[in-house]
Amino acid sequence: MDTNPAPAPERADFLREIVAADLREGRHESVVTRFPPEPNGYLHIGHAKSICLNFGIAEEFGGRCHLRFDDTNPIKEEQEFIDSIEEDVRWLGFDWGEHLYFASDYFEQLYAWAVHLIRDGKAYVDDLSADEIREHRGTLTEPGIESPWRNRSVDENLDLFERMRAGEFPNGSRVLRAKIDMASPNINFRDPVMYRILHAPHPRTGDAWCIYPSYDFAHGQSDAIENITHSICTLEFQDHRPLYDWFVENLPVPSRPRQYEFARLNLTHTVLSKRVLLRLVSEGHVRGWDDPRMPTISGLRRRGFPAEGIRDFAAMIGVARADSVVEVEMLHHAVRNVLNRTALRRFAVLNPVKLVIENYPEDQVEELDVVNNPEDPAAGTRTVPFTRELWIERDDFMEDPPKKFFRLAPGREVRLRSAYFVTCTDVVKDADGTITELRCTYDPDTRGGSAPDGRRPKATLHWVSCAHAVPAEVRLYDHLFGDPYPGSDGRDLFEDLNLESETVLPTCFVEPALADPAVGQTVQFERLGYFCADIESAPGAPVFNRTLTLRDAWAKLQSQGRQDTA
Ligand code: ATP
Ligand code: MG
Repeated sequence: MDTNPAPAPERADFLREIVAADLREGRHESVVTRFPPEPNGYLHIGHAKSICLNFGIAEEFGGRCHLRFDDTNPIKEEQEFIDSIEEDVRWLGFDWGEHLYFASDYFEQLYAWAVHLIRDGKAYVDDLSADEIREHRGTLTEPGIESPWRNRSVDENLDLFERMRAGEFPNGSRVLRAKIDMASPNINFRDPVMYRILHAPHPRTGDAWCIYPSYDFAHGQSDAIENITHSICTLEFQDHRPLYDWFVENLPVPSRPRQYEFARLNLTHTVLSKRVLLRLVSEGHVRGWDDPRMPTISGLRRRGFPAEGIRDFAAMIGVARADSVVEVEMLHHAVRNVLNRTALRRFAVLNPVKLVIENYPEDQVEELDVVNNPEDPAAGTRTVPFTRELWIERDDFMEDPPKKFFRLAPGREVRLRSAYFVTCTDVVKDADGTITELRCTYDPDTRGGSAPDGRRPKATLHWVSCAHAVPAEVRLYDHLFGDPYPGSDGRDLFEDLNLESETVLPTCFVEPALADPAVGQTVQFERLGYFCADIESAPGAPVFNRTLTLRDAWAKLQSQGRQDTA
């Protein structure tokens, strides 16, 4: 019998195969992964892929996943980012339990290990400047040049490194480097920097340190301390793997983690670089890190994307070893699938024109039953007040309609959703010729939206009773970057910013059920799209963000026989 039965994973990919084999063949008793963000910005949809992968593998194989902040660069790191990262990982539906860690928790241990390498003659203090180190490093075709300080004695190195820690030297005056091989074909092996001097307070360790470890010196050892079995990262770290292994093999670490690389997520019309996202925020191109146009998790949340849709998207794109660009429409497709199932249907009129039913009693109010979600009978019904004066969409009427326009026109009958059939009898205009009112009659025998004689109008319109309408601000969103490949062909990224990515409609009307919506609740405005109540909503004055339109461009591309571009 198999002594290490690995539960069958839901999905197969090369990483899950590696984990399954390691468990099956007894190399590990259980799997331990980690998600290691640097707290220097908000998480984005690319991080969501990594989160779903690391937490997903741990969950599927009955292991655990740590959240570890890679907080080794105090200049760029802030508590605000730490808090937002924790919130976002939780919101995505993952739980690290007690396993919250900080690389800064290991500073003392890392220091001791640096001393260990110095004693073994495998690390030295270098007095070259950062520029000189870069010049000495060589290129892909030329070997590097050894630093004149490379052969200091162990005692001198120990003394200098201790004094670096004690704060005797200014920023940039010295570094600690691993002594490996300046002629290695892998540039990462050419005596990489392990510690640099930085007189800057750290959000967690305060003034305790003025030397900070490099990513390369901190990451693998942190993994080893936490007994991480599979240290999963993106492809740009592939060339760092030999160095990761070198440190782990040359130090008395408590466990032997291994690094595996996968392709990072790239999306069309989207930039996933924290540096660029920070610029968008600091230069005021967006409303903040959580602007509904931002690809940050908090932006997607504010836009109304459900966590489930993001997780489904991560499952759809899978994990591969080759870089690719995924169409953003595929993310939208995954989100629509969830919202179609879960979003309550509501009436909202974005571009209103008044419709008056001349034969409807003036003071009458009927509470009509309307289905909340035809995809989910359990969502039940609500009542919507119906009166003589209604708002409908201005675009749903044409005075002189072309052949294919089936909605309201003079003399034509349409259905008002879940209410009555109405026929347009007259059009009222102001002095400029703008339509101010549509006069109609209704057929009282069509209550609920069907006629006893079985006749069926070609169009069904949504509506809101004028007397009961709640004024709302609605914000429409489009791609933040107009070009599918922002900054391609040598353009400046910011030239591709879509200046019409946000359209604010200040005077819309929504049905009374939406007077005080729960922030973050996403509903479907019938016929218009999915909309999410914004944090700027106030009771009686809701603000809605358009999450997505109803048209699924990705499904359409698929049905036209196109494969995704992955
Ligand atoms: P940036 O380069 O934009 O500043 P980063 O990748 O350096 O971001 P980290 O906080 O270091 O940001 O990333 C944490 C983890 O998320 C890393 O393991 C990283 O590989 C992974 N990650 C970052 N971007 C992506 C992406 N686009 N797709 C998949 N994983 C990603
Ligand atoms: Mg990084």
